[in-house]
Amino acid sequence: MSKLLPTSSAGSLPKPTWLAEPETLWSPWKLEGEALVEGKQDALRVALQEQAGIDIVSDGEQTRQHFVTTFIEHLSGVDFEKRQTVRIRNRYDASVPTVVGAVERHQPVFVEDAKFLRSQTDKPIKWALPGPMTMIDTLYDDHYKSREKLAWEFAKALNQEARELEAAGVDIIQFDEPAFNVFFDEVNDWGIAALERAIEGLKCETAVHICYGYGIKANTDWKKTLGSEWRQYEEVFPKLQQSNIDIVSLECQNSHVPMELIELIRGKKVMVGAIDVANHAIETPEQVAATLKKALQFVDADKLYPCTNCGMAPLPRSVARGKLQALRAGAELLRREL
Ligand SMILES: [Zn+2]
Repeated sequence: MSKLLPTSSAGSLPKPTWLAEPETLWSPWKLEGEALVEGKQDALRVALQEQAGIDIVSDGEQTRQHFVTTFIEHLSGVDFEKRQTVRIRNRYDASVPTVVGAVERHQPVFVEDAKFLRSQTDKPIKWALPGPMTMIDTLYDDHYKSREKLAWEFAKALNQEARELEAAGVDIIQFDEPAFNVFFDEVNDWGIAALERAIEGLKCETAVHICYGYGIKANTDWKKTLGSEWRQYEEVFPKLQQSNIDIVSLECQNSHVPMELIELIRGKKVMVGAIDVANHAIETPEQVAATLKKALQFVDADKLYPCTNCGMAPLPRSVARGKLQALRAGAELLRREL
């Protein structure tokens, strides 16, 4: 990016009410068949409008029900009828599908959507995929019986998808790994290696998004148990700094993460979360600029990418829109100062 402080969002945006139930995760589609295909394309066009003034745009995850399960649905080896209850990220119980055989990708998942988005904008596009470790944490494994082996197979499938997304014109491919904030030993033993397997051979830029989750109750309850200083990043940043990943997306706004932890990934580009997605209050441009300015102590200005803490799918659309505009205005304030 030649522009200083290029803005982007972490990923998801609210869906229009005519496409899916608002402010809900895993919301079922309100359309079907051809109407759903058209409706998703219309939603992608609207998502681009909502990102007016944002420098790096995304699909806002308008074509997927959920950031993890929609990708898995397109792979073989996972039985969605056979369900087991597991604990997600040591935080809450959920009924999840079962891995019953070899997981393989036989067809593209988001490539047509990416081609469509590419045809609608000249701006750089960032596309989010789930990370291998976060994927295994959303399933019951009755086949590999090894988290590491299953993650490796997912990494291979993700790499196939990522190469085709790159060919479709995607500029940045981001892997969402909230699980990196929970399973530190595994991250260091094989999690980062699996992520590097997923980006193997890519020439476009790559990012990993590590956050404290959507502003849903299970996450806000969990955050209350983390104490006054959240030092989770400290466990995985040193190894991440040594990895081939180009960009790290992390949360800072209203967070209890000590900002000096960003120093641990010095040399990487950093997408600094300057927008809180866990409340409806819209930040002022001054607040956004202040957060970004503080981050400048630990990341060089040409590597600072203003961003949101996490996705905004569960928020009302007017709030998400306001927050994106605050991000744009806050980055502009700081750009003028620099
Ligand atoms: Zn997130």
